[in-house]
Amino acid sequence: MSGSAVVVGGGIGGLATAVGLRRIGWEVTVLERAPVLADVGGGISLHANGIRALEALGVGAAARTAARPQYTGGTRTPGGSWLTRLDGAALERALGAPVVGIRWAALHRLLREALPSECLVIGTEVAALDSSIPGRVRVPVGDSALEADLVVVADGVHSRLRGRLFPDHPGPVYSGSTVLRGLTEHPVPLASDLELTWGKGAEFGHITFADGRAEWHAVIKAPPGIRHADTLAAMRSRFGHWHDPIPALLDATLPDAVLHHDIHELATPLPAFTAGRVVLLGDAAHAMTPNLGQGASQALEDAVTLAAALATEPTVESALARYDAERRPRSQSVARAARQAGRLGPLLTHPLAMALRNTAVRLAPSGATIRAVLRFADWTPPSLG
Ligand SMILES: Cc1cc2nc3c(=O)[nH]c(=O)nc-3n(C[C@H](O)[C@H](O)[C@H](O)COP(=O)(O)OP(=O)(O)OC[C@H]3O[C@@H](n4cnc5c(N)ncnc54)[C@H](O)[C@@H]3O)c2cc1C
Repeated sequence: MSGSAVVVGGGIGGLATAVGLRRIGWEVTVLERAPVLADVGGGISLHANGIRALEALGVGAAARTAARPQYTGGTRTPGGSWLTRLDGAALERALGAPVVGIRWAALHRLLREALPSECLVIGTEVAALDSSIPGRVRVPVGDSALEADLVVVADGVHSRLRGRLFPDHPGPVYSGSTVLRGLTEHPVPLASDLELTWGKGAEFGHITFADGRAEWHAVIKAPPGIRHADTLAAMRSRFGHWHDPIPALLDATLPDAVLHHDIHELATPLPAFTAGRVVLLGDAAHAMTPNLGQGASQALEDAVTLAAALATEPTVESALARYDAERRPRSQSVARAARQAGRLGPLLTHPLAMALRNTAVRLAPSGATIRAVLRFADWTPPSLG
């Protein structure tokens, strides 16, 4: 089946969808409200499921070149003792790929490069959809409108269109934690690729990129809306006495390179990912907390699953029903697990609960970390036909 689609939102999810739909022969236009494509995302980790999705989209080789595999590291306490160790080589043996670190901008660029330039229209905000014509969806844009067989809503966690499609849904809620992230100005000598350190109501972590630089993040349990006049100084005061290389990572960061976001999620699962010929995807459908590093990988799975369903099902309706059946249970269970991981990680503040958690993690049988990653990373993309 071939057809036409308008994708609302040119983030990782929207662009990946456009790549997938073009691979199955659909005409696609992506409408992105931002007038300039800025590097809004810092860095992300991708698990094997995200990498396999990128391979299915035909950009696996480009992604592997731009990404850096994370072989060593693990989870620590602020004093530096290890709770668990990451075994990237074992993950690679099990899944064909360890976790990789990639700059959001690099992933965005390689998806953009897989599309003809006219496919992505920036500076265009979509405020409403019109499904009154049977079998078509109109997308009002300024004084005119686009019309397509299908509209993909990929406009992120604060999706405006989701609220119109599901007016009874409460929408995103604050997760209880805020995240600060910084990219080092230059490569920093690091003993391991990927680390997380759990302290009282906070997590500090880093991930390394192909150019030798690293991104650190600090997830902090806090009310929403708190901002610091000097963010880096606030980070030094909170984390500067934690183990190496945390002070060195902060020292290698320029003050204006620190991003600060309050984390929102869709705590109430959506009752459906489709409404007529409109389909939700990525954070618009299942925004989750970043604690499992699965948000982008889930958006990539959505994109491949949607393209595969449209390629093989006889009608758009049956394809969307299949997409909803395949994607909703899985992505919502990943979101639940991510929330739970946050509760047991950076959101924990009671000293006894933290001590019990640390003991349980330390004593977990070897292979438990691998099994935890495999639970979601071991996903096989459906065929695009
Ligand atoms: C701190 C943090 C760390 C993260 N770390 C990881 C990680 O390590 N691994 C991982 O896999 N994921 C991670 N994620 C999640 C990941 O970044 C997202 O899940 C993923 O990028 C979702 O992409 P998306 O395309 O669905 O949404 P978005 O990236 O939000 O894109 C939505 C796009 O839609 C546009 N838009 C919005 N409204 C409109 C409109 N009305 N009309 C037109 N355009 C519109 C926006 O400008 C935006 O470009 C993290 C997220 C956060 C906040």
